[in-house]
Amino acid sequence: MSHLFAFLRALEEGPQINSTQDLIVQASYLIASIFFILGLRSLTRPDSARRGMQQAAGGMLFAVVGTLLNSGILTYQWIILGLILGAIAGYPMAMKVPMTAMPQFIAFSHAFGAIAATLVGIVEYRHAFTPNELTGQTPGLSHGVAAALGFEVLFGALTVTGSFMAFGKLQELITGRPITFRGQNAVNMGLMAVAFGCFAMLIYQPDTAWAFYAMVALSLFLGVSMVLPIGGGDMPVVVSLLNSYAGLAAAATGFAIGNNVLIIAGALEGAGGFILSVMMSKAMNRSFANVIFGAFGSGAPAAAKEKGEAKESKTISAEDAAVQLAYAGSVVIVPGYGMAVAQAQHICRELMELIAKQGGEVKYAIHPVAGRMPGHLNVILSEAGIDYGALLTDVDDANRVLQTADVAVIIGANDIVNPDAEEDKSSPLYGMPIFRPWTAKTVYVIKRGKGTGFSGVENPLFFKDNALMLYGDAKNVIGSLVKEIKALDDSH
Ligand code: NDP
Repeated sequence: MSHLFAFLRALEEGPQINSTQDLIVQASYLIASIFFILGLRSLTRPDSARRGMQQAAGGMLFAVVGTLLNSGILTYQWIILGLILGAIAGYPMAMKVPMTAMPQFIAFSHAFGAIAATLVGIVEYRHAFTPNELTGQTPGLSHGVAAALGFEVLFGALTVTGSFMAFGKLQELITGRPITFRGQNAVNMGLMAVAFGCFAMLIYQPDTAWAFYAMVALSLFLGVSMVLPIGGGDMPVVVSLLNSYAGLAAAATGFAIGNNVLIIAGALEGAGGFILSVMMSKAMNRSFANVIFGAFGSGAPAAAKEKGEAKESKTISAEDAAVQLAYAGSVVIVPGYGMAVAQAQHICRELMELIAKQGGEVKYAIHPVAGRMPGHLNVILSEAGIDYGALLTDVDDANRVLQTADVAVIIGANDIVNPDAEEDKSSPLYGMPIFRPWTAKTVYVIKRGKGTGFSGVENPLFFKDNALMLYGDAKNVIGSLVKEIKALDDSH
């Protein structure tokens, strides 16, 4: 207990400021933390999200410069080498990776953040039990710092392998389907209990090196074994949960090495990642535990085949669809992942303006899990300058508007408009709140072919009586619709 009090007292007293240099470092950390909080606040709205990223980047600059001024740095050569290598790897990644591949690259970068936290933890632990070259004395480790280091490597190591697994699944380097075996959850729980046992041992007896390294090894293994049974469809939830773990590991690193900005940024990332994971699970109407232990997606394709083979969907030409759109009083556009792939947002705005010019009202129904990351479609539509007033972001509100709409236009969306989510208890989508475009008078579905959505299941919407398919790449099809409506306009 006395160790705990000493630890808490050290936290309360804060960092030791012995020189102007230390003062500058702490001031830059404080400014960095303020920027991080402002950045997070701005990121809560799509219209201020860009500013949020700039504020967060500004905060990171203060944090890095502050750290470089740290009086404890004896030589800069390794730091400069690290900066150069990081820039060489990071710049092309940031410039070249398409928006649609963002989730896997976020997972990839988490893995590197977690590697850094884990390595710092291991180095600090080794350092604590290595005799000083001059005095021959071993610094040792207090119970409080041992707890922080243990926490750091426990969550850090798990995040390293977990993030690489998530990257592999999303990048399709390994199968996106859940890999399961009997008693898997029990095995994982057992291993986790052993890892926590080692953690407790480390706090009780900080010089128990075997407990420290066994914990690192178990965590590395757990990262793989806990992500294996989770399907690709749930991977973004897992990525944001691992983001949360990486944040917690960073905060623990901050406690272990007495760095305030790491504690604050880590705590923000830890809390933010966890809240996001819970929100995404909710949007899919799944419990958080179901995402983590549910093996979502197993057995889906067989069901897909059975349903798809029996029916044929009806098609319509761009020319005919354009006539109806030009004379529609109200149109609801439902964009999905395919719109992001096709980068059809700009041409879509042109279509919207043309319909509005003809007297029609156009709204966009934006589903919380449309696309491949939270806010994906909001960001894309905002990029195209589409007014927020035209967005229906609440599923119930959108469904009310759809009921009275003349035309619903589905652009590259699939799972978010799948009626099975309401009607078929055996569907892996069952329970997810979805849009009901079939309640509009007519539904146009723009997609390239008969491809399924992310869940891999067939969509009975495409076979409904009022559904008409417009096959092709979203950008090309909408381009044809725009051309036809313009031609109609000119002929009047
Ligand atoms: P889906 O992945 O369900 O469907 C996308 C559709 O777009 C496909 O059926 C595909 O059909 C079509 N498509 C692909 N490329 C093009 C193109 N160039 N032009 C036209 N159509 C194209 O997308 P949704 O947005 O409806 O649903 C998102 C899914 O992702 C949900 O299952 C959700 O749970 C999941 N998910 C999303 C997360 C998020 O944060 N947003 C997080 C976790 C999961 P075709 O090949 O025939 O063209």
